[in-house]
Amino acid sequence: MLPAATDTSVVIIGAGQAGLSTAYYLRRFGLQPGTDVVLLDRGPGTGGAWQFRWEALRLGFAHRVNDLPGMEELGVSFETAERTLPARDVVADYYRRYEEHYELQVVRPAEVYSVENFGADLMVHFRGPGGDDQVSTRILVNATGTWGAPFVPWYPGLRNFRGRQVHTNDYRSAEEFAGQKVVVIGGGTSAIGFLLELEHVADRLTWVARRPISFLDEQELNIEAGKSSVALQDEAAREGRALPSIVSTTGVPRSRRIQAAIDRGLLSARPMFSSIEPDGVRWADGTFEPADALIWATGFRPELRHLAPLKLREKAGGIAVGNGVSWRDGRIFFAGYGPAASTIGANRAGRVIARQVLTSLSHL
Ligand code: FAD
Repeated sequence: MLPAATDTSVVIIGAGQAGLSTAYYLRRFGLQPGTDVVLLDRGPGTGGAWQFRWEALRLGFAHRVNDLPGMEELGVSFETAERTLPARDVVADYYRRYEEHYELQVVRPAEVYSVENFGADLMVHFRGPGGDDQVSTRILVNATGTWGAPFVPWYPGLRNFRGRQVHTNDYRSAEEFAGQKVVVIGGGTSAIGFLLELEHVADRLTWVARRPISFLDEQELNIEAGKSSVALQDEAAREGRALPSIVSTTGVPRSRRIQAAIDRGLLSARPMFSSIEPDGVRWADGTFEPADALIWATGFRPELRHLAPLKLREKAGGIAVGNGVSWRDGRIFFAGYGPAASTIGANRAGRVIARQVLTSLSHL
């Protein structure tokens, strides 16, 4: 029985892979979507962050996208989906069917702007479909991903650049850079994807990365197999440090498309420049590269602004999370965070967190 003041048992923020998977397991364990579990998402449609990715990112160019738990009941699978379709369309379509099939009742658009303590419970404030709203809850599952928190490293002169600066999260299509001198910054798959798309469109293309790119022998990235990657993320999360970049620890798989680009000399990265000037970038040795546009494929940080009133941040710069739960506050769970920031990791987090949520509720 909920106390009178408590509207619901669990609020999940975010209906991407992590939020949906948590909602699925909570439903399977007997909680009712819409009453016991309220799922809020600020996106206009289904698909989590995938709905915002650029059209040229085809399913076949993405890393492996894992099916959500229970997706087999729908008779669809990312494994067998047409690989030439834009990943954003396929994911949005399959997530929509999934939400409908399991009646997960996602409230959208509903942007959570703050969560604060409310006696023994938590109060979640959001701008919902009908305006400002709030819901009190006993447990919070934060599954907000990283797409809304793009990271751009600072370099001297950054603000004086006269051309266009775009981050992965606002890149739309190569055509926007037709005939331009473009510098792509970053050492991961997104940077490489942009170089492949811009190869015959830009007038001049330069690639820079902070460290030499490690091309793997595998065709497909297995985020989980990278011994270091998941372990390093987990270690940082447990110690409450800022999370390290995933790409810096996994390397880039050598798909046929990427190998061909290496062979024709497209994928040779220069070291990072040392400053940005109004019309280009300059290296420490004085070399200058003119640029009309800088594309920052420099990654993301977890999106956690709305949790600021809860004061979960550690001096070390991050929040301390182990096994998906905050080490400071046992009412708050993090799905898809750190070591779980992949579609397979998010699935697993959903199950692990749902079990712990059930246990916590039974003790409240
Ligand atoms: P998201 O999909 O980002 O979902 C978070 C949801 O929370 C969003 O719907 C957002 O609208 C909502 N939200 C955020 N803040 C708020 C708020 N304040 N209030 C309300 N709602 C909010 N992983 C793979 O396994 N395979 C891949 O091929 C792959 N490719 C990738 C390509 C790119 C370019 C990037 C950036 C990442 C890729 N990833 C890939 C990682 C991928 O993002 C994760 O695997 C997974 O999709 C993330 O799921 P999520 O649920 O944690 O986050």
